[in-house]
Amino acid sequence: MDTQPTPIGRFAPTPSGRMHLGNVFAALIGWLSVKSRGGFLVLRMEDLDTQRTSAAFADILRDDLRWLGLSWDEETAPQSQRSAVYDRYFEKLRDLGLLYPCYCTRSQLHNVNAPHLSDGTYVYAGTCRNLQNPPNRLPAWRVMVPDKNYTVNDLCQGTFIQNLSTDCGDFVVRRADGCYVYQLAVTVDDGEAGVTEVVRGMDLLGSAPRQMYLQELFGFPHPQYGHVPMLLAPDGRRLSKRDRDLDLGELRKWMKPEELIGKLAFAAGLLEQNTPISAKELATEFTWDKLSGEAIYL
Ligand code: GLU
Repeated sequence: MDTQPTPIGRFAPTPSGRMHLGNVFAALIGWLSVKSRGGFLVLRMEDLDTQRTSAAFADILRDDLRWLGLSWDEETAPQSQRSAVYDRYFEKLRDLGLLYPCYCTRSQLHNVNAPHLSDGTYVYAGTCRNLQNPPNRLPAWRVMVPDKNYTVNDLCQGTFIQNLSTDCGDFVVRRADGCYVYQLAVTVDDGEAGVTEVVRGMDLLGSAPRQMYLQELFGFPHPQYGHVPMLLAPDGRRLSKRDRDLDLGELRKWMKPEELIGKLAFAAGLLEQNTPISAKELATEFTWDKLSGEAIYL
């Protein structure tokens, strides 16, 4: 008898532009991982940043996913509509005595704090932890972190260890303007949706320990993580939303979805030849051990 629970995965795109090949690749692997085992997929629009995101881009994203053949089973509420839910979890952190107000300005943060090892941001030195005379302005809110190693046993990157105190420091969960930050929203949303596996780009590996910490505080189990490699242009450049030539708006003009999926699967070592294939066909032969953690050159 099969005792494995049904996997629940998610797509969590930010509707701030067209999907580029890196986004397509992460979505494809997330879909293959779940659908090759008969699992369930949740779609959620990460539109916390209301300045950069729009409903029009969300519509285009859904259309792009359908065009690729990457179906989802349910769409949950976008993050912009969930601040009342995030308030409850924020209060939980306050009740645990783990929150404190932070008045540091952007320039203070970058001058005072040590550079972060992996992603260029800083390790917060705890400046506002015991502030005696707070300035008269609205603060951001930070959660205190323990001096504890978090180990991510990643499906793609192997073992990744981060000490939250020395590698990250107390981190912001709500900004001074009242907006919740990605780390809190994503933990709540994945936790409430019962997500069992989180597949996304390698650039978010360094966020997993912060999310694991919040999962513990909120009482959610840790999901399985799979951080897929970055796709690089032939000259070694990382693809970004600025690479308009490699976004779906352009690619859909001259490629069929099967050609695009075949090309990505071949570049990633999932196929021996560069032949057109649908996501559904590819799912019949997908296993994580075919995918290495190394960056993929297009
Ligand atoms: N919304 C993020 C993005 O579009 C992904 C966040 C996540 O998968 O946790 O890059």
